[in-house]
Amino acid sequence: MTQNIAIVGAGISGLSAARKLIEKHNVIIFDKSRGVGGRMSTRYSESYEFDHGAQYFTAKDERFKVLLSSETFEDVIKPWDSRAFYKKENKLIPDTGGFRYVSQPRMNSFTKKLSKGLNISLNSNVSFIHRDKKKWVIETADGKVYRDFDFVILALPNEQAISLMPTETEYYNKVQEVEMDPCFALMVGLKKKYDFGWDSLRLNNNINSWLAVNSSKPGRSHDQTALVIHSAVEWSKKNISSDITWVQDQMEAAASKTCGIDISEAHHKVIHRWMFASVSKPSNEGCFYDHSLKIATCGDWCNGGRVEGAYISGLMVAKIIEE
Ligand SMILES: Cc1cc2nc3c(=O)[nH]c(=O)nc-3n(C[C@H](O)[C@H](O)[C@H](O)COP(=O)(O)OP(=O)(O)OC[C@H]3O[C@@H](n4cnc5c(N)ncnc54)[C@H](O)[C@@H]3O)c2cc1C
Repeated sequence: MTQNIAIVGAGISGLSAARKLIEKHNVIIFDKSRGVGGRMSTRYSESYEFDHGAQYFTAKDERFKVLLSSETFEDVIKPWDSRAFYKKENKLIPDTGGFRYVSQPRMNSFTKKLSKGLNISLNSNVSFIHRDKKKWVIETADGKVYRDFDFVILALPNEQAISLMPTETEYYNKVQEVEMDPCFALMVGLKKKYDFGWDSLRLNNNINSWLAVNSSKPGRSHDQTALVIHSAVEWSKKNISSDITWVQDQMEAAASKTCGIDISEAHHKVIHRWMFASVSKPSNEGCFYDHSLKIATCGDWCNGGRVEGAYISGLMVAKIIEE
């Protein structure tokens, strides 16, 4: 029987659930942002572009591999054949963590393509969900009310899901056991093309943990340098409420030492704070589902974290609803 399904969140997990569910159901996705993709996003600033969330993704699960190699995505999904290193005791060691994919020309090109043909309500910040006569009602922060949903799927970071879930939801406590960590993303635009000897660098530094030359990814402009710097988890947690200018200064100073140039003099700099960036304590349930309330929850944190886990989590929630 065709059902009316509301999905909150147009990140990769929400999009993957929706693509499967539209085969049989009426589906609408609500997202508070101006575009789709969630943490697989790209920031455009002046003449630079920065993938300031997910940097790349891996594909180990057959279902994700099939999607990436399909004809629909062949122009968008490319290997990032990068000079990847990590630093140990001041030595650069090749970072052989498996095959890295990116989407081109931007990280959000993939999610934009995934969203084709879906009914998505952007700029819709869902503030409250509740049941009325056994149907779900969705309310947004701008006062709009959407009724008559048989199911609701929350495709959100766990804390954002908790803020919307009724406390009587069967799996409410399990969602609270998950831990997600914040991260600062510093985006630096340099007018010249720089060669630091690496395209990505993982650090065991107490301020920055990752630096990547975004402009080295396929399909990007290679004439100048777009650098993405991520802060280390413990440092981010400690400084999540610190003055953002101070945070930026600290990250710039640490990155200047790593890169051997004065980042404070860069042509363009902007910082972004991710409240729920990565998953330090994931669940391995795949997704959560309450049969009596007809509410489900998916996302990277349900399935080990990361892009691939989020995509599979969306597929799993769609499969459970179908059964
Ligand atoms: C800095 C950083 C680096 C990362 N690096 C990597 C990497 O290199 N490789 C990798 O595999 N993964 C990486 N990740 C993780 C990866 O981005 C995520 O695993 C994946 O994108 C999660 O997808 P999702 O659909 O579960 O959630 P999200 O992408 O977070 O999607 C949730 C969506 O819900 C929307 N939303 C939230 N609240 C509401 C509301 N109340 N109403 C409406 N909409 C709402 C948001 O706008 C968002 O679009 C990184 C993430 C960050 C932030």
